[in-house]
Amino acid sequence: MSMDNRGKDPIQEGSLRSVAPSGVHLPQPTQLSRYESQKRRDWNTFGQYLSNQRPPVGISQCNSSHVLEFLRYLDQFGKTKVHFNGCVYFGQPEPPGPCTCPLKQAWGSLDALIGRLRAAYEENGGLPETNPFASGSIRVYLREVRDSQAKARGIPYKKKKKRPNRSLMKPSSDPSSSIPLHQS
Ligand SMILES: [Zn+2]
Repeated sequence: MSMDNRGKDPIQEGSLRSVAPSGVHLPQPTQLSRYESQKRRDWNTFGQYLSNQRPPVGISQCNSSHVLEFLRYLDQFGKTKVHFNGCVYFGQPEPPGPCTCPLKQAWGSLDALIGRLRAAYEENGGLPETNPFASGSIRVYLREVRDSQAKARGIPYKKKKKRPNRSLMKPSSDPSSSIPLHQS
């Protein structure tokens, strides 16, 4: 009487791959460095993003405004809390409690991503002169993100020109202390 079982297909093609959590480190079929495989993944993600636009955008039509929209789009997957100016935790690197401020992509992640996509664009036949990832507007955007996140989270992104003398007073247990102690 259980005729309705007939419709079930035991073969679920591709389903195992699609349910694998993205954080799981799967062995790579080809020996790519972490950077190379990350770059390839980013490039595919960006191509996917372009083809999901209405109307779809080809990589040759892609310009810096598509890249900026892509960066903003990625914020919804971000894990970095960026406080609004009015939040009580504004400027605190480690807030003691929750708040409703949005999660965004950390500046450092975006900066590294743009670097990889910029390289991938030229490796995939794009001309350096038309590379949308190398555009000045992207640089300006990244700088704005960096500065606003530095203020919101209390992180000073200053270039360290002078090293503080504090390093001279490292505790002796520090393994990086370079004083040789071979006394045999
Ligand atoms: Zn907040």
